[in-house]
Formats: sequence, structure tokens, C-alpha cells
Amino acid sequence: MSERIIPLVDHRHSAIAVPTPVAPRPPTGVLTDGLGRPLRDLRISVTDRCNFRCSYCMPKEVFDKDYPYLPHQALLSFEEITRVARQFVAHGVQKIRLTGGEPLLRKNIEILIGQLAELRTVEGEPLDITLTTNGSLLERKAASLKAAGLQRVTVSLDGLDDAVFRTMNDVDFPVADVLRGIEAARAAGLGPIKVNMVVKRGTNEHEIVPMARHFRHSGVVLRFIEYMDVGATNGWRMDEVVPSAEVVRLLQAEWPLVPLEAAAPGETAQRWGYARPDGSWDQEAGEIGVISSVTQAFCSDCNRARLSTEGKLYLCLFGTQGHDLKPLVRGNATDEQLAGAIAAIWQGRMDRYSELRASLPPDVAARSGRRIEMSYIGG
Ligand code: SAM
Ligand code: SF4
Ligand code: SF4
Repeated sequence: MSERIIPLVDHRHSAIAVPTPVAPRPPTGVLTDGLGRPLRDLRISVTDRCNFRCSYCMPKEVFDKDYPYLPHQALLSFEEITRVARQFVAHGVQKIRLTGGEPLLRKNIEILIGQLAELRTVEGEPLDITLTTNGSLLERKAASLKAAGLQRVTVSLDGLDDAVFRTMNDVDFPVADVLRGIEAARAAGLGPIKVNMVVKRGTNEHEIVPMARHFRHSGVVLRFIEYMDVGATNGWRMDEVVPSAEVVRLLQAEWPLVPLEAAAPGETAQRWGYARPDGSWDQEAGEIGVISSVTQAFCSDCNRARLSTEGKLYLCLFGTQGHDLKPLVRGNATDEQLAGAIAAIWQGRMDRYSELRASLPPDVAARSGRRIEMSYIGG
């Protein structure tokens, strides 16, 4: 039986209070943290609930029928989320990713997307708005999401073998339905589509090559994610991590690959293109990505802020405490005070968990600190 770590304390309830009154501070469009990293990417969790029970994220043993999910009144409303997002955009955010839990479970999510789609970057451009989903509701929702203003989606899929996938999502959900969701997203024009596969040794590493074969020449960008020590409930062990270097070696044995430039600064994935016989990138065959959160830290250009479902601002995926913006949002703080609070928090940011972890034995690092769950803070 695998060892499980059950949290004794619910860290969602411990938060860093934002000191009030906050000095109003009109945003200037550029905000750098304590390590000189600009704020560019905002991930917003819209629900802490999910219809899957992926063992690496929401293991059934913990997220059972008695699990205390956030009550509806604790969630930021769409208007509140948009108001907070507007301040982030004024500070230089260019990309917003909606996540969760399963974001498509949040009722009328299209209304929120419509509101966010009206925001403009400091340069006056539309935002890059995307969403990460398990794909279970995508076939039904792809067209309405696109119509609301969503530009693209990332779909999580951990294998093509139905038995493996049903076991990993732990609710017996079939692969075919997710594949139909991906096709519906393509038909709706929600592209380029990315597919995320978390690779866990002993569970689905034999699905790496079949997944690559399936999505080669499809226009879908498949990305392999190292199984991470997020949260405190998934019983993470280093020996279950398949390092990205191994994934790349496996794929290279099937198809030659060429390294590609990062598409944007702070991008989490290292990109590889399928190569032609002359060694150039065969763009028609496409590309894959590897996200090496465990074996290769990419904190030095991490430009991501995370807003939890109930309005706490986290500065790192491995954070233990969020900065509670809700009292400002629900109180009588002005937009400039809200912007001032966000600026002060981001400027104090020194987080670089993955880099620090690299200096510790991995299993020791995984047990140090008390982290927030991925289903709460989003990916
Ligand atoms: N429910 C949606 C989904 O699964 O796409 C969005 C939320 S989920 C927390 C976001 C991403 O985090 C997914 O791609 C998921 O595979 C990934 N994820 C969750 N737990 C992880 C872990 N322990 N290690 C690596 N990736 C993880
Ligand atoms: Fe749900 Fe996504 Fe977590 Fe799986 S990874 S349990 S689909 S939130
Ligand atoms: Fe960013 Fe934290 Fe991940 Fe480093 S560990 S890349 S700071 S989220």
C-alpha cells in the first residue's frame, strides 16, 4: 500500500492579512518582484471542486464526500474576479489562465470569460485568455466558450489506454469523451490546443510514445509534466517522477527531435520539434514540450501570480500562505488601493521553491513546509 500523507491542518484558512489602510498607487504597467521578475501571467482558480479524483491531485481518500469544499459565498463573484484581474492587467499582466478544480464546473463560466475578454493590456491589446480543463465537459461547452471570448484551451489527458486513464482519474471516465472534447475545441477554433500529460512512473510512462504518436501531425501540442510534489495529500515520492530528460530520450528513439526556442519569456515548457532528415524542424509534424518542474527549476523567470477561488493571492505554486485580497475587494477599498496592495505584495516576492528544492534531497524537500493543494490554487 502506498504511503499517504493526510493534512492535519487546512492551510486554506491561514492567510497573510493585507495591512490596511493600503496606500493608493496607480499602476505603471510594469511591476517587478524582489528578484527582478516582472508580473505577466495571472492564473485564476474559479472553483475548488472537480468531477475527477486524479490520484496525484485530489486523491479519493482525502477528497471524499465529507471534504469541506468552500461554500459558495466564499467564492469571488465574476464581478469581483474581473475587478481584481483589471488591477493585475494594469500592472502588466498579459495572459490569464482559468483553472481550478475543474473550471468548467463553475456555473456560467462564459460570463466571466466575456468580462475578462473586454480587458485590454497596458499596450491596448486583448489579453491572451486560456483555460485548463480535464476535458470532460468540453464537447458540450467548446462553442459557447469560444463565443464568450476564450482563445484556446489546455486539456489534461494522462494516456490513451482506457483502463489506465480510468484508473488515473479514479472516477472511471473514458478517454473517448476527452478526445471528443479536444475535437470539439478544434472545431470551435479554440487553438492552438495543448494537451498536458502528467507522467508517473509505474502508472503511465508506457503511454508516452502512444500519446506522442497520436498527436503528431495533429496540430495539438503535447506536453509531458513531471509529477510534482504539490500539496500534501498525494503521497509524492521521487521514485515516481519520470525526469523530462528520460521522456525526451524515449521519444528521440522513435523520432528525431530538434530543440526549439521558448515561445514567450517565462514559458514553463521546453519545446522540441519533430525533425526532418536534414535536421530542420518539420512544422507539419509539430512539437512536444516537457515541463521539468522537479528536475530543472525554472524559477528565475517565473512571472506567474495565482489567485485562489476565494481571493487569496499566491506567489508560488508551492506556497503555504496566500495574501488575502478579499477583505479589500469586499470592503470599501478603491481600485487604486487594491492595485497598491497587489504592487506591495508582488514587490516583496522572493519565492523560488523549485530552485531551493534542488539543493535538498527530493524526498526531504517534499516533506518540508506545508503547501496548498493544486486543486485549490490551480495548475
Ligand atoms: N482540472 C483541470 C485539469 O485537470 O486540467 C485544471 C486544474 S489541474 C490542478 C491543472 C493541471 O495540473 C493539470 O494539467 C494537472 O494534470 C496538473 N497537476 C495536478 N496535480 C499535479 C501534480 N501532482 N504534478 C504535476 N501536475 C499536476
Ligand atoms: Fe481534477 Fe484537474 Fe486535479 Fe484531476 S488534475 S483531480 S481533473 S483538478
Ligand atoms: Fe514559480 Fe514557484 Fe514554480 Fe519556482 S517553484 S517556477 S517560483 S511557481
